[in-house]
Amino acid sequence: MTISRMEKVEVFTSESKGRGLKATKEFWAADLIFSERAYSAVVFDSLTHLVCHTCFKRQEKLQRCGQCKFAHYCDRTCQKDAWLNHKNECSAIKKHGKAPNENIRLAARIMWRIEREGTGLTEGCLVSIDDLQNHVDSFGEEEQKELRLDVESFLHFWPPQSQQFSMQYISHIFGVINCNGFTLSDQRGLQAVGVGVFPNLCLVNHDCWPNCTVIFNNGNHEAVKSMFHTQMRIELRALGKISEGEELTVSYIDFLNVSADRKKLLKKQYYFDCTCEHCEKGIKDDLFLGVKDEPKPSQDVVKEVIQFSKDALEKIDKARSEGVYHEVVKLCRECLQKQEPVLADTNIYLLRILSVASEVLSYLQSFEEASDYAKKMVDGYMKLYHPNNAQLGMAVMRAGVTHWHAGLIEVGHGMICKAYAILLVTHGPTHPITKDLEAMRVQSEMELRMFRQNEFMYHKMREAALTNQKMQIMAEPNNDAAPAMFHKKQ
Ligand SMILES: [Zn+2]
Ligand SMILES: [Zn+2]
Ligand SMILES: [Zn+2]
Repeated sequence: MTISRMEKVEVFTSESKGRGLKATKEFWAADLIFSERAYSAVVFDSLTHLVCHTCFKRQEKLQRCGQCKFAHYCDRTCQKDAWLNHKNECSAIKKHGKAPNENIRLAARIMWRIEREGTGLTEGCLVSIDDLQNHVDSFGEEEQKELRLDVESFLHFWPPQSQQFSMQYISHIFGVINCNGFTLSDQRGLQAVGVGVFPNLCLVNHDCWPNCTVIFNNGNHEAVKSMFHTQMRIELRALGKISEGEELTVSYIDFLNVSADRKKLLKKQYYFDCTCEHCEKGIKDDLFLGVKDEPKPSQDVVKEVIQFSKDALEKIDKARSEGVYHEVVKLCRECLQKQEPVLADTNIYLLRILSVASEVLSYLQSFEEASDYAKKMVDGYMKLYHPNNAQLGMAVMRAGVTHWHAGLIEVGHGMICKAYAILLVTHGPTHPITKDLEAMRVQSEMELRMFRQNEFMYHKMREAALTNQKMQIMAEPNNDAAPAMFHKKQ
């Protein structure tokens, strides 16, 4: 085959995994391997008036497109940047009477781009949209039905004067979106807000213990000089040393699951059997299901506690989605009482409850109890995740902020520093979350110094700060599952 390459990576084919990307030079932790702009991207249906359609930042105030009244933007800069991709969409929405769903909008944007640029390789792309996998042949009956509905709605929306595509080609595009659509998040990384297609990223194969991580960066055009402006993009970064010639991998799913469950999920969502080392050898499975050493509980007791935990998690999910947070807290406390004498500190059922409990209690501003749970959660995570895992970094950051709010400045500052070190690797120094963390690190360091000099004064100052100004409130807990890398309808 012809080898397509960029500066630091090249495409290769292997018998077992098909296509992949490998390094053509050595990388070290935090190295940026490549960044890529979306081929096409759209905001989720439920957020179209809350999130900018160009940079995907969540904003208090957005400006509406005067033509279709559908698209929203931060400002003139974002609106101007959007026009090439929005022009056709804008008039189609006006004619159609309303905007179709996100899937149809994304397919249409991709096809308008193909109409403009043709189907060949776009500049900077190692693979064309035509050559991406669609997995339509592996679709079950339910998925086939949805695909037919999508194609039908698409044809309703697609204007007769635009280039016409075959049914087979339209199905290909929906198949590509289905398994390669990458989830985009807002600037704080708190919420999934949209989906986009990034062809080069699609070439990076999965490994449950990967050597790279991928991060969405919304870009920035706040600088006065436009030469310092950056565009929204994904960035692939090395998590540790990668040798020349080594395959680059990312994890499509969260690692905190026993290997059998990860394999099941990957098969269902991405249609492949994971043969990574961690799955083959079941590495860390014993920790995920760990139980207390002394006294070692009987198998029956363990079974009962696990079943109790599963039932509790279901009830908790329900109460959380209904916003009955005090009920969530009650259920968590009950479950933790059952779990703590039986399960080890790395057991995933215990960690899941601790995660919900700390998140919801922070939201309710019960920072002391929240920080206790957050500490236990982070201690467990450290034994399970890769030391530079992005999810670990975000969890340590939240735990640090919770401690800080609880007045536990020493532990809080330590955690914020730890999170900052991880995010420098995974998100890079210019990401808005890293910048937030840097500001928190400076602030908490100053408070820590004050605390060490004069504890009494420190508490006085804190009290005053608490009564005078409303504390920064944590984001409302949401029910989103752990973020899967690629956006796929469940
Ligand atoms: Zn914007
Ligand atoms: Zn418009
Ligand atoms: Zn695996």
